[in-house]
Amino acid sequence: MTTAAALGATALVLAGCSSSSSSDSGGGGGSLTVLCTVQEDQCQQVMDTFSAEEGTTARYVRMSAGEAVARMNASKANPEFDVVYGGGADNHVASAEFGLLEPYVSPNADVIPDEFKDPDGLWTGIYWGMFGFCANTDVLEDIGADLPESWSDLLDPVFAGNIAMAHPATSGTAYQAMWSQVELNDGDQDAALEYFGDLHSNILQYTKSGSGPGQMAGRGEIAVGLIFAHDCVKFINEGFTNLETIYPEEGATFEVGAVSLIKDAAHPDAAKQFIDWALTPVAQEIGVATGNFQVPTNPDAEVTDEMVDRDDVAVLTYDIAEAGAARDELTKRFDAEIAPQPKE
Ligand code: PLP
Repeated sequence: MTTAAALGATALVLAGCSSSSSSDSGGGGGSLTVLCTVQEDQCQQVMDTFSAEEGTTARYVRMSAGEAVARMNASKANPEFDVVYGGGADNHVASAEFGLLEPYVSPNADVIPDEFKDPDGLWTGIYWGMFGFCANTDVLEDIGADLPESWSDLLDPVFAGNIAMAHPATSGTAYQAMWSQVELNDGDQDAALEYFGDLHSNILQYTKSGSGPGQMAGRGEIAVGLIFAHDCVKFINEGFTNLETIYPEEGATFEVGAVSLIKDAAHPDAAKQFIDWALTPVAQEIGVATGNFQVPTNPDAEVTDEMVDRDDVAVLTYDIAEAGAARDELTKRFDAEIAPQPKE
């Protein structure tokens, strides 16, 4: 877990764990606890806005997506959370494989395109975004490397010790990298692992959180971070102007950020109220307001120039259910065959 939780507009900090109110009201006055995997500033603003608009207090705990699956599974007998908010949907599928989710088809899901929702309501998409590379042009110059434009460019020894990525067992971002390689190898998981075996000699560090390598690149600690492209855009806008966002030329998969209801949630009505709200344009425009440029799934939510245009990049389409079902085994193989997951 990277941080503490916050309680609505009052920002009560609960040191690393959540607590729940005893009342459950979908009509206001109740509360819920959300397991949130998007960037911290977006989690905070989403909970504050929901609490203020809907009269139900949303607390949250921020974790990386893989950690979130593990934490929910560990507390399955007595769920700590009511809702999972954030991507990628393959992590929601992995949670459903462990029996951790309850289907819920929100009335507001009607307007969400089919490719961004599970037909049975296990998860519903709130945004989508591309995987990419985030390169520091100053460091590239220092090490005498060109801007890497492809997955194969990353294997060049010129990048030895100058690339970082998160570990796919803890991070949804890194699992997106893994699944991109599975798709690029026509579904061959051994070949995908072989790629990461080859890349390993260029990796300085496997971080726990998906966006960490983008900050490392921004600080000049490495030349290239493998992260969501929209996280790189965020870091550039926040002042790391030596960074450049790259969409790999062979293509990459995309994440669908999703929202889902946790099985045996203590506050199911408040949870459904939150899910309904998360699908509205107002909720989905909070991304832009906090400098997070994932593309909204609600067609009525505003799209800005900072967001990726699907027609401009090589997008690998993939079966989210298949990627989610493979997650547990594939990340265990990464752990055993490539590198163990970081403890801190
Ligand atoms: N960054 C952004 C913008 C996201 O939408 C998500 C998904 O929730 C993540 C990062 C995932 O973080 P991690 O890779 O740490 O699981």
